[in-house]
Amino acid sequence: MIGTVKGTGKRKIMLQGHMDTVYAAGILGSQPYKIDGNRIYGPGIADDKGGLAVMMASLKILADAGWRDYDTLTVVMNPDEEVGSVGSGELIATTADLHDTVLSFEPTAAKSVAKGESLLLGAAGIARATLEVKGRAAHAGAAPELGRNALYELSYQMLQTRDIAKDIPGVTLNWTVARANGPINQITEKAQALGDVRITQPGAEKELNDALQAKIASGKLIPDTETTVSVEIGRPAFVAGAKGRALAEKAQAIYKEIDRDLALTPMTGGGTDAGYAGRSGKAAVVESFGLAGFGYHARDEYIEVDSIVPRIYLVTRLLTEIGKQ
Ligand SMILES: [Zn+2]
Repeated sequence: MIGTVKGTGKRKIMLQGHMDTVYAAGILGSQPYKIDGNRIYGPGIADDKGGLAVMMASLKILADAGWRDYDTLTVVMNPDEEVGSVGSGELIATTADLHDTVLSFEPTAAKSVAKGESLLLGAAGIARATLEVKGRAAHAGAAPELGRNALYELSYQMLQTRDIAKDIPGVTLNWTVARANGPINQITEKAQALGDVRITQPGAEKELNDALQAKIASGKLIPDTETTVSVEIGRPAFVAGAKGRALAEKAQAIYKEIDRDLALTPMTGGGTDAGYAGRSGKAAVVESFGLAGFGYHARDEYIEVDSIVPRIYLVTRLLTEIGKQ
């Protein structure tokens, strides 16, 4: 969902957050909305309903105050962030490229689990490695020697590549899924493994792919089997760079006005749409303008009430400052 308004200023500003959550339909039956002291509980309340609420409340305050100090103001609400933005990633990337600045509204960590609130300047990208082995089927009882066991070969290839990413800066690989669905009385003809790949340096996935290809070509356990491997990139890594850092430092200074500290986190393992927004490097992108919260993708997700007003202050002030540039 994308909405754009035109103003009277110079800057092109984009705000983004996501509407989807990871929870199954009906979750409110067992985990209802609940206020308890400084916490408000609810599935998805921090990740990322709280972020959308901060975005909308801030824009309402600014609109009511007559703020129009922007050339373009675009709001992007993504419906498929939690599954890797497979349908919306390209649109986020191309829309962000039309803007100077992108504020992204994922949550920040609650003070019950972190020393203080922060903004995020980097997040790992995600890719998927696929290892496929083609063997030869044969009767497992009558003539196993005629078969070429794809499952054994898959195991061998997984083991020989399991530490391969350790020598490549900025990328990790973990084989996490293996499949071979043949009948039990047949020597396995086909087997497949999937690996979780995390990227903290753009481009490291290409090096990983090259290393995997070379390793697999270097040897096999079972003659006559054929192994292929591929690395398919999902969400790109987010690296804020100098422009993003300058924007985050401005936010830090604004938080100081209300005596609050804002840490700048250089990198996290979780993926974010900021990776798409910052892919080309055209816009200045900073992540985590949402509310302080905890328990995302888990039970008893909550936000901290005393982060609501400061975060709205931060976003409204920052937007007016950006508009002045
Ligand atoms: Zn999220």
